[in-house]
Amino acid sequence: MNTKEIIYQLRTDNGLSQEELAEKVFVTRQAVSRWETGETVPNTETLKLLSNLFGVSINTLLGSPHKLICQCCGMPLDDKILSRNADGSLNEEYCQWCFADGTYVYHDMDQLIDVCVPNMVEQGFSEEQARTYMKQYLPTLDYWKRYKELADDGEFERFKETLIQEINDLRVPGMPKVEKLNALVGRFVNLPYRLPSGERVRFLNDNTTYLGTQLESEIAEGLCFGVLANMDFILICTYEAEGQNPELLVFRKR
Ligand SMILES: [Zn+2]
Repeated sequence: MNTKEIIYQLRTDNGLSQEELAEKVFVTRQAVSRWETGETVPNTETLKLLSNLFGVSINTLLGSPHKLICQCCGMPLDDKILSRNADGSLNEEYCQWCFADGTYVYHDMDQLIDVCVPNMVEQGFSEEQARTYMKQYLPTLDYWKRYKELADDGEFERFKETLIQEINDLRVPGMPKVEKLNALVGRFVNLPYRLPSGERVRFLNDNTTYLGTQLESEIAEGLCFGVLANMDFILICTYEAEGQNPELLVFRKR
């Protein structure tokens, strides 16, 4: 699809008239009409507004001329897994796991490789192949090339260490010590916890990236602890295989 068809489709899928779309992105109805006939293409500022309005990348609006790749982990990017900048706009360079709340998540290439290798092994690589490939591939990506310029001098790593300390200080019975925290995206870990009333609620924001981990219980077989945290809170829950019967154990504001 090209830009004119994409704009038409997004507009009609969202139930907007040309007039209504024009108002939302501060142009005239005639301008919208010209985009949809292919006479003109929105300018850069308007593309940004359309991207925010519809939650799709500018790359998608332009008919996907580039294949977007996360510049930290190398994963192919589609609109659903793009990260967001601190101002809420889509970031077309990084996935939600590598960049969150305006912060880069990985500061150590080996740590990222440890996270990626098991996924690649699932896709049929041997562990050694996967490791060798990532060691050669990651340094070619923009983030690792510009790491010195982009890095925050270890501030984020120190924040993770503080969180790990706070979590371990809670001394949850049966829960092993937390050694490291990974980036987890809300919608994959947003379990429905049961309230005393019997009602079930989800606490997390599907599009937010949290730090967390999963640990097997030292005392109850088949039971897992789920740990999730960010600047604002620490959450610990238990669940059975595949997230069944989630129970909230600790929810603590920081
Ligand atoms: Zn990534």
